[in-house]
Amino acid sequence: MSIRIAGIDKTYGPKGPGHTRALEPIDLDIANGELVGLLGPSGSGKTTLLRIVAGLEQADGGTIHFGERDVTQVHVRDRRIGFVFQHYALFRHMSVFDNVAFGLNALPRRDRPSSAQIRSRVMQLLEMVRLTDFASRYPAQLSGGQQQRVSLARALALKPDVLLLDEPFGALDAKVRQELRRWLRHLHGELGFTSLFVTHDQEEALELSDRVVVMSNGRVEQIATPDTLYRRPGNRFVFEFLGEVNRLEGDVSHGVLTCGAARLAVPGLDDGRHELLLRPHEIRLSERPSAGAHLPVSVSAVVPVGAEVRLELEADWLGEPWQASVGHAEFDRLDVSRGRRLYAVVSQLHRFDAAKPQTLTLEPAV
Ligand code: ADP
Ligand code: MG
Repeated sequence: MSIRIAGIDKTYGPKGPGHTRALEPIDLDIANGELVGLLGPSGSGKTTLLRIVAGLEQADGGTIHFGERDVTQVHVRDRRIGFVFQHYALFRHMSVFDNVAFGLNALPRRDRPSSAQIRSRVMQLLEMVRLTDFASRYPAQLSGGQQQRVSLARALALKPDVLLLDEPFGALDAKVRQELRRWLRHLHGELGFTSLFVTHDQEEALELSDRVVVMSNGRVEQIATPDTLYRRPGNRFVFEFLGEVNRLEGDVSHGVLTCGAARLAVPGLDDGRHELLLRPHEIRLSERPSAGAHLPVSVSAVVPVGAEVRLELEADWLGEPWQASVGHAEFDRLDVSRGRRLYAVVSQLHRFDAAKPQTLTLEPAV
């Protein structure tokens, strides 16, 4: 079921001082079967938008369509929506089976399947989330991740056209989150419903979504596929929100940026003061300065965990230290340790101070 959000806006409280404009007019089209992530910092309006789509909150203006149907005034009960929230909100006095069966049992008699049909549907859902052996347990006897899988099965019991999820994995630890993301992705592919989910976690949004809507202060900053968002951020907010960022500020003259003792060839950049941004993986290290770059740094912290080694680099010419990530092989080759003096090599720089965002490619990345 496609979703069309047109001109939806919302202000909480009476108009005037003290009111909160939670949403500026928002337009968003979600295709049938799409999985769209709403990503933004706390307070950016994600939950408000989701609740308006659900019919749990009334917008001040605008319309919501599900397919051809205008549901703006339709009660939440009649929108054919499944929900999953951060807090499991399972019925504690009911077994796993009864939790999943709840919506089916609550249907008016004329719509309600037979108890045999309900049983088979519930067992099928529990099979999907691999919890058949837990059907007669109570929520308190399950781990957090298992409880969220029950929530997912329960939300899907009525075969909703639309599944809405608000920080569904927010309360779980990193490993379980990872596993549940795979569940959601898998069920989404298998059942073909349309989903809108809220998260403040960039990685989660980028990993799960077909498209991501980046929000801040009640506004949409950019709507794009994860790939486009990461490689071609529409503005500085999106760039900064999507990953770690280092800053380089200096004066450019004749294609060379100078910043204290540091110099960097920046072909194509106009003369004048510039602020440039770069990601940790856009920095390499070398024992010598190169023709285009003289960026002396000293290593102030080393975190050798994960696929790459994370380094903190300090220099007099830098305002705040840079965060860099280098491969383990390069780390070994350069014999990096705290206090080691090296030269940074920059492969790309991003600027957002011009009319259009621009990426400068400098030395080739390794
Ligand atoms: P998010 O989910 O992105 O954290 P919310 O949609 O919950 O953001 O909130 C957006 C803004 O609206 C925030 O400034 C929040 O304080 C405010 N807000 C949310 N719900 C209410 C409410 N029921 N009454 C008043 N203000 C609210
Ligand atoms: Mg929220």
